[in-house]
Amino acid sequence: MTETPATATTAPAVPWPQPASSLYPALADAITGTVTLPGDSGYDTQRQVWNGMVDVQPAARGAGGGGAPPPPPPPPVPPVLAFAHRTGQPLAVRGGGHNVAGNGTVDGGIVLDVGGLRSVEVDRIAQTVTAGGGATLGDIDLATAPFGLAVPLGVVSGTGVGGLALGGGVGWLTRSHGLSVDNILGADVVLADGTAVHASAEEEPELFWGLRGGGGNFGVVTSLTFQAWPLPAEVYSGNLIYKADRFENALHAFSAWSADVPDELTTIISFLVPPPEWEQGEDPIMAVGFAWAGEDEEAAAAVVDRLRDLAAPDAELVQPVPWLDWQSAVDDLFPHGSRAYWKNTSFNSLDAGLIDVLARRAREQSWRGTGFDLHHMGGAFGRVPEDATSFPVRDARYWLNIYGFWNDAADDAHHTAFVRGLSRDAEPFAGGGQYVNFMGAEDPAQAAPGVYSGEKLARLSALKSAVDPENLFRRNHNIAAST
Ligand code: FAD
Repeated sequence: MTETPATATTAPAVPWPQPASSLYPALADAITGTVTLPGDSGYDTQRQVWNGMVDVQPAARGAGGGGAPPPPPPPPVPPVLAFAHRTGQPLAVRGGGHNVAGNGTVDGGIVLDVGGLRSVEVDRIAQTVTAGGGATLGDIDLATAPFGLAVPLGVVSGTGVGGLALGGGVGWLTRSHGLSVDNILGADVVLADGTAVHASAEEEPELFWGLRGGGGNFGVVTSLTFQAWPLPAEVYSGNLIYKADRFENALHAFSAWSADVPDELTTIISFLVPPPEWEQGEDPIMAVGFAWAGEDEEAAAAVVDRLRDLAAPDAELVQPVPWLDWQSAVDDLFPHGSRAYWKNTSFNSLDAGLIDVLARRAREQSWRGTGFDLHHMGGAFGRVPEDATSFPVRDARYWLNIYGFWNDAADDAHHTAFVRGLSRDAEPFAGGGQYVNFMGAEDPAQAAPGVYSGEKLARLSALKSAVDPENLFRRNHNIAAST
């Protein structure tokens, strides 16, 4: 690892063409962070991302920024972009490294790691939060919880806010306050040509629109400012558990119940073989998890009672839980290095045929290492107009995320096939669109259907042409520049 001077911020003139590797010292000289090359100590650790199936060898990794205090040095973003552009080397931008498709790294290319940009500032009066582009969800929750505030984020605390919030951000506050993208007030962005801009509703509004769902296609985000929302110190939350022979019954009940629940309640159903520490046996279960983003616990309990009346659970654990505990409750299920392949789709309703598919496929899981979640959408998510952000399919009522999180490479084919099989079975009921952050790496034969509608894709393509015509940012669900 080469430590570089804190003052150098511009790339020195380097004659070209040359083998890219001979230019790495120039890259190191140009940035305020560090460059790690194959053979350097730490390279093998630093090249790893969350998905253990992504086993690639970047040629170099440039990193910069640090937590606060002390204040982080300026990130080395423009010089690394200039270097990638000049050498033609593929570039990956890495935030939290949790992307399931492995977009936080690139074989034989340069990883620009902004994971050090983890500072979080809370303005308790304005109820806004500004987080570095490499902060984790846990960093943000830790900073906001003491003020009784929360930003709508995802459900696993080690996930990076950069990737999560640029793609969407589905979690326990989706129905009460929308996706993460719906709560972005502004972003500091370094564009492909090294220009730093601020994007908000007032400044660079088209870029601001594209960033909120376009998944990292348009620049390197060094900070994001979010709207935060008051939450009680303890959130009324829990799980109603149903055994395998109750899946159909419970899903029909859920379908009826979820047609009319207040926005304060966000529900995520998980079908999986529970880990031993959950003490729920070795058969697959359906866990109806929920969180109530409000003060009135009696009102929350009455709503949950209505589901109990429709389908009495076989077991349950329901209680007020500190927000930080709830936000990290399933962290242990998804350790770093898990092998993973994911697919997703949206639905407008839970048809009887779809319920049959979900129940049958859920019962097939006699192993630990795959699962699938059914997110209840609507509420604040559904009130955002379709054209207000680039995130697709605002009229989706439910979103299915089929995921794997296994350890043994010998299970790759079997678990991947399960994810694909359920996705295929659910496809006839799909409402369209894809959530980029719930997509795994596709081989060409399995290419996923479109993420965005034709109109939205055309608008995103026009934006790509304007800000990244040469497609420097291509390790993502890539949006082609319009011709
Ligand atoms: P990275 O691999 O670092 O990056 C992902 C993509 O975003 C890459 O294309 C990268 O180039 C780009 N990117 C990252 N940071 C920046 C930046 N600062 N500027 C520009 N581009 C950037 N999603 C949800 O919505 N809700 C959940 O509850 C949820 N839970 C998850 C749990 C686990 C265990 C995992 C593995 C994923 C989960 N996800 C969830 C999906 C998650 O949103 C995506 O994996 C997301 O891509 C992770 O972002 P990252 O910054 O950690 O990833």
